[in-house]
Amino acid sequence: MDATPIDAVDPEIAALIRQEAARQRGCLRLIASENYASAAVLAATGSCLTNKYSEGYPGRRYYGGQAVVDQVERIARDRACALFGADHANVQPYSGSPANLAAYLALLQPGDLMLSMSLPHGGHLTHGWKVTASGTYYRAVQYGVGEETGRIDFDQVAALAREHRPKLIVCGASAYPRIIDFARFAEIAREVGAYLLCDIAHIAGLVAGGVHPSPVPVADVVSTTTHKTLRGPRGGMLLCKKEHAKAIDRAVFPGLQGGPHDHTTAAIAVALAEAATPAFRDYARAVVDNAQALAEGLLGHGFDLVSGGTDNHLLLIDLTNKGVSGKQAAAALEAAGIVCNANSVPFDPRKPFDPSGVRLGTAAVTSRGLGTADMRHLADWIAALVAAPDDEAVRDRVAADVADLTAKHPAPGV
Ligand SMILES: *Cc1c(COP(=O)(O)O)cnc(C)c1O
Repeated sequence: MDATPIDAVDPEIAALIRQEAARQRGCLRLIASENYASAAVLAATGSCLTNKYSEGYPGRRYYGGQAVVDQVERIARDRACALFGADHANVQPYSGSPANLAAYLALLQPGDLMLSMSLPHGGHLTHGWKVTASGTYYRAVQYGVGEETGRIDFDQVAALAREHRPKLIVCGASAYPRIIDFARFAEIAREVGAYLLCDIAHIAGLVAGGVHPSPVPVADVVSTTTHKTLRGPRGGMLLCKKEHAKAIDRAVFPGLQGGPHDHTTAAIAVALAEAATPAFRDYARAVVDNAQALAEGLLGHGFDLVSGGTDNHLLLIDLTNKGVSGKQAAAALEAAGIVCNANSVPFDPRKPFDPSGVRLGTAAVTSRGLGTADMRHLADWIAALVAAPDDEAVRDRVAADVADLTAKHPAPGV
């Protein structure tokens, strides 16, 4: 790669960025929350908008010089509303976690109760888990998946809602391979008089691409990241019904944040333009097709998948029957150039730091053009590595196959 302005100032960091780019080109990235932002998104992120301060909202700012960034933020908001069919969008949250905290700030008082999915069953830390701000300032009662089905247990959700009368029901997950029935959650929320927050951080790109039902018609507030399946910059967004617009905007600024990251806002606008194209719908379809092909391949090798398969971009392998831990498997895969993360499975008897499962996602490999035939090979390689995690010959053979495949499919943006 050519020398960049960073080389002249800081050769150490410049060299590390080059190393990371080479890593991202040279391995198969199966971390379900990761993707490859386009060159256009990266360019907007690295633009001069990083130099601007613009506390407030378009037309209502605290500093001067806003003529350009007001237009950028209006375009980003309008594109978000159009793409997702929302009444109102706030594109300022710094990421998914602050987006959720802002939603709580808008809808709840400290000490109020939320009903949310538990982390070990696939939920997210920011859904009321004790070690986070969400679990410190609010109380949480949590639902999970059925032990046999691996799917959200709506009888439990409804029973907990009736018993505890939460002010807010939260749905959305980080490690749940199935379609989330937002309409069912909305029914339960309506019955008990709770607000409904749907966190689509992982699946926003699938919703935008039409391969997962949208929560927007039924949710009070929808939160998301912009960098997972949506394939934009690191960032967050909130979409909401008109009646919550003022509270949501006030919660983001001045409630939680200072100045918005205008360079990110521009990059979100670019990503939303990309996500509105027919090519992105094809991409979203291919992400799910690939996840299902990978699931079929793994099932053929006797792997135990939580819920038996997948409807979205991710799958969760329970490795108990293979006699290796999640960490061991993830390390064996990474040594051969296949990068994923160890993950708890529901009802996991092992500790979260070395759990029983691994989570695999197809968003990033699909962005570099891999298809279902490649997923069959990938399943074979994963099976070989898990069967012999310490076998160097297997590792070297798979590493060579991974190198061939990545060389054939250039990684976008890097
Ligand atoms: C990733 C994720 C978040 C948090 O996003 P960050 O950008 O990492 O703060 C929130 N909710 C869910 C469901 C997620 O998967």
